[in-house]
Amino acid sequence: MADFVLSPPVIPSVAVAGSTQRFAVRRIFCVGRNYAEHAREMGDDPNREPPFFFFKPADAVVDDGAVLPYPMATQNLHHEAELVVALGAGGADIAADQALKSVWGYGVGNDLTRRDLQAAGKEKRRPWDMGKGFDQSAACGPLHPVTEIGHPAQGRITAEVDGVLKQEGDLSEMIWPVADIIAHLSGLITLAAGDLIYTGTPAGVGPIARGQSCRIRIEGLGTLTTSYI
Ligand code: MN
Repeated sequence: MADFVLSPPVIPSVAVAGSTQRFAVRRIFCVGRNYAEHAREMGDDPNREPPFFFFKPADAVVDDGAVLPYPMATQNLHHEAELVVALGAGGADIAADQALKSVWGYGVGNDLTRRDLQAAGKEKRRPWDMGKGFDQSAACGPLHPVTEIGHPAQGRITAEVDGVLKQEGDLSEMIWPVADIIAHLSGLITLAAGDLIYTGTPAGVGPIARGQSCRIRIEGLGTLTTSYI
């Protein structure tokens, strides 16, 4: 074992449904726009351009039930309800018809976004990193293994803030389904076991204020609750 000058950091991880074991997270990728109605609400053309991607740090991941301080440097924290794909294998240039073999499981995600910082970045054609990849910005519920639930291609996905419905869609409305996302992403970088992919959000994104709680729900995958103090 290497002799490090500082102790190695804790390995980020996500809960596994019905298990005491956890899923070690290697990297977090996010799809930028994957539901037509959300693309429109963000002022984008929902035509089927190739998907685009951004990162969050692996240690931005946070479990279901987290009670968090309101993020620093923002006045406009937004929720984004998303299906999370957890990879059990990787590779480069994975064909779409082989891609689902690399999936280990699925979970409910919230791609938390400092919308004001993202908007400022967009306006100046600067990176989105500080709008998207901040501390505790990748909420993820317990993962459900493919061996138990298969590959969900449809199912209602919603976000509620303090019990009020804000986002509503269906997984079947994704512009790029999971297999295509993996195929595209693996043409850009070599994917690996432990990678998480947030697959985009339906319309209705909006703010979570201090003192509020956001609950994401995906049919068949349960709920993910994130609260702010
Ligand atoms: Mn998103």
